[in-house]
Amino acid sequence: MNATHISGIGMTSARTRTRLVERLRAEGIKNEELLKIIELTPRHLFVDEGLSHRAYEDTALPIGMGQTISQPYIVAKMTETLMETGSMNKVLEIGTGCGYQTSILGKVSKTVFTVERIRALHMQARKTLTAIGQHNIQYLLADGFNGWQQYAPYDAIIVTAAPPKVPEKLLAQLADGGRMVIPVGTTETAQDLMLIQRKGDEFEESVIEKVRFVPLVSGIER
Ligand code: SAH
Repeated sequence: MNATHISGIGMTSARTRTRLVERLRAEGIKNEELLKIIELTPRHLFVDEGLSHRAYEDTALPIGMGQTISQPYIVAKMTETLMETGSMNKVLEIGTGCGYQTSILGKVSKTVFTVERIRALHMQARKTLTAIGQHNIQYLLADGFNGWQQYAPYDAIIVTAAPPKVPEKLLAQLADGGRMVIPVGTTETAQDLMLIQRKGDEFEESVIEKVRFVPLVSGIER
């Protein structure tokens, strides 16, 4: 990331960001605090310079290593669902990727704990988020199927890659009253985005909508 890349936030960019937020509103995102945060978050800094002209389109984009930055609508939907169902004090994110979702979460919670299995993405996300002054984020290079036991329990857990079924260890790391949003499914074309709410030892599940995420993969890539 160089200086021109950082300062390349001209009029066009301000206008395209406003347009993105209008589109999210039209798609049903209602939380104005969240919409403001999305408007102010420099998504172009999370993608390769060659793709920065497309950063404010409501689409997923490649971030290298066969992974993608999530579509803004999905980032908004997952975050809004968590914000409107309970506390956002301690948040666990599985799948840091480029750190865009992490950035949004960092602005609506006290601390974000984020886990990524690919070293290059883990390093790059930390660099980008530090460069834009976000310091309430803890990073771990590990297999997210295990969660992050050291800081459990979490008020909210967000998973940004799809496992075939909800990992038991993640359920165990939810606080009482905690919520998890997670795409679940065995195919890459249609998974269920699920909301799981913990009430004591009960876990209430509901399906939010159909989604398309890269698969949650075991092990670490150094
Ligand atoms: N929220 C990210 C989404 C990135 S795509 C963004 O907007 O950029 C999903 C990410 O999950 C990828 O970076 C992928 O490497 C990561 N991932 C897949 N399986 C994982 C696992 N078991 N543990 C941790 N991260 C995982």
